[in-house]
Amino acid sequence: LSKRIIAENDNDEIGRLTAILNDLLDRLEEAFSREKRFTSDASHELRTPIAIIRAHSEENLKEGRSLKECQHALEIIQKQTDYMSHLVGQLLLLARSDTKELSIENENLDLTELLEIVVEEMQELALRKGINLAMNIEQGLAIYGDQSMLTQLLINFLDNAIKYTPGGGKIYISAKVQNNQIKIVIKDTGIGISKEDQAYIFDRFYRADKSRSRASGGSGLGLSICQWIVKIHHGSIKIESEVNQGSTFTIFLPQSK
Ligand code: ADP
Repeated sequence: LSKRIIAENDNDEIGRLTAILNDLLDRLEEAFSREKRFTSDASHELRTPIAIIRAHSEENLKEGRSLKECQHALEIIQKQTDYMSHLVGQLLLLARSDTKELSIENENLDLTELLEIVVEEMQELALRKGINLAMNIEQGLAIYGDQSMLTQLLINFLDNAIKYTPGGGKIYISAKVQNNQIKIVIKDTGIGISKEDQAYIFDRFYRADKSRSRASGGSGLGLSICQWIVKIHHGSIKIESEVNQGSTFTIFLPQSK
């Protein structure tokens, strides 16, 4: 595919057609290699939990294993199975987003209510880690969108804030209307993201710190899903972050009248 077509004259009709064809070839090549990378990354991600499950089951099928040892192995197996099922769910969502097969069910929603429900649900997770999760959400925020996607979006951002903030830290979520747009801010006092990593964190499978992210159940897919959800809602995301100080994600979404 990487062969380019060469025209004798760049400025005549054939030359211009050749330029269009070459551009098309470049784009096709890029799409193919993206597809290949996605498949190989996905297989790699799935291979790790499978290897862990296999090792633990083999080890515990040996004779003379105590009940306690078996129980410990089962707990690990269960955790890995949960992770795989979460990963497969995310992969399916992304695959469907690529083929535009996904039906988006837009309706008029009370975003204030949605935010309050999600924050309440995530409160338990934060508390368990000793993190203070506070909110300041304007009443009556109205949006035309897909309820389950927007819920997933908020869960992903809050889940990250909790995952990457050490115990004793703070997370603050606010939402209001600003310049006819809904502005949601999720601010944490966590580990932060370096300038170099900020350029990549919305890429599929990208994790700033692979081992830390995997240990906390991360797949590197959450933010790429968020970016896609915001895009289909005609919004945008902004990030500000300082290593060891914390991160602030700002989501802008159109307000429905
Ligand atoms: P993951 O499943 O690994 O959390 P995401 O796509 O949600 O994947 O995030 C990509 C990477 O961005 C994470 O692995 C992490 O390194 C970084 N990241 C995301 N949110 C935060 C945050 N609030 N604080 C620090 N790092 C973050």
